[in-house]
Amino acid sequence: MPNNEVDETDCCGNGCTNCILDNKPKPSQQELLAGKRNVILNYAKFKMLSNEVHNGDAQLRLMHFVYVATENDENDCILDIPPGYHVMLRAELPGHAVPLLRPYSPYWTDLVAKEFKILVKLLPGGPMSDYLAALEPLQVLNFRGPIGNYVHDSSSPKCIYIIAQGVAIASTLPLVAQVLDNEDDMSCIFHAICAQDLHHVYFRDRILEFSRYWNYRSCIYLAHQLCSCGAANCDELCMHLKKKLRYNETACRLRLDVKQLAVHAAFSKESVSIVIIAGYATFQRVMRDQAISAFNLSDENIYLL
Ligand SMILES: Cc1cc2nc3c(=O)[nH]c(=O)nc-3n(C[C@H](O)[C@H](O)[C@H](O)COP(=O)(O)OP(=O)(O)OC[C@H]3O[C@@H](n4cnc5c(N)ncnc54)[C@H](O)[C@@H]3O)c2cc1C
Repeated sequence: MPNNEVDETDCCGNGCTNCILDNKPKPSQQELLAGKRNVILNYAKFKMLSNEVHNGDAQLRLMHFVYVATENDENDCILDIPPGYHVMLRAELPGHAVPLLRPYSPYWTDLVAKEFKILVKLLPGGPMSDYLAALEPLQVLNFRGPIGNYVHDSSSPKCIYIIAQGVAIASTLPLVAQVLDNEDDMSCIFHAICAQDLHHVYFRDRILEFSRYWNYRSCIYLAHQLCSCGAANCDELCMHLKKKLRYNETACRLRLDVKQLAVHAAFSKESVSIVIIAGYATFQRVMRDQAISAFNLSDENIYLL
């Protein structure tokens, strides 16, 4: 089988929206421009540099990996994982007849140093979660990618509405950064961050950094935030929640739904041209239908990561 071939055994079987079988890892624009080989196009070895607890929650880990060069490597190779794309982790675990495959979405990549970072939420009883929980720095894992299909065209300015659920906010950070880091890019971004409560909002410092840009706005939607006052009628913009927010942070005690999207559509100066949704498959499907209705968009303007 030639190196970049993909077959049924490369699919993790979890029903990913962008399945590897339909989104075969292929040379990216950056790779073609640089004229260098992307080391991750087929399974490649990456050494773990750190496995750190995040937000004080032992089930949440920030994991940092670096490419392990092989003897045959030329000097001119890169690691390119475009914004919004994910990589597949393959691990041979005791008790599993076939290798276990699980996708993860890097929130940071260094093209030249060939390093990337992922935020992992460990699921109790999950085989890959158990394996990753015990991993120590210097252990080596196999990853392949990039897998995805979203392409941002910076030459055509648009209003991008990004919806991120829980840990999936990680995959949306590079999408925001690629717009804000390019001062010729006139696109604007609204980031709708959905979480159960404030404790489950990740990368708050990064979101605050983004907020310094003219073309970025965000709102945190908290579906289950309890209010410290205990009053049943404390409203969604309550003072008690405001006291817990940092300067320039916007949040409300609400679940993001078609009503909230319609409020955004009615009061926003720009009309939304595309919507990107990151989260569990069921969340993505529900939000896609609601966004089509609230923003009067067609299906092709909605991207599910
Ligand atoms: C495109 C894509 C990108 C992803 N990126 C990341 C990432 O960056 N970080 C990250 O932590 N995870 C990410 N995931 C999820 C990740 O691939 C694994 O599913 C997760 O780490 C659990 O693997 P596991 O083998 O430990 O558990 P699994 O065996 O997959 O599941 C363990 C338990 O959790 C339940 N469960 C699994 N998935 C769900 C779900 N969607 N909703 C509710 N319950 C569920 C299962 O029913 C089971 O009981 C991504 C998934 C996709 C499709």
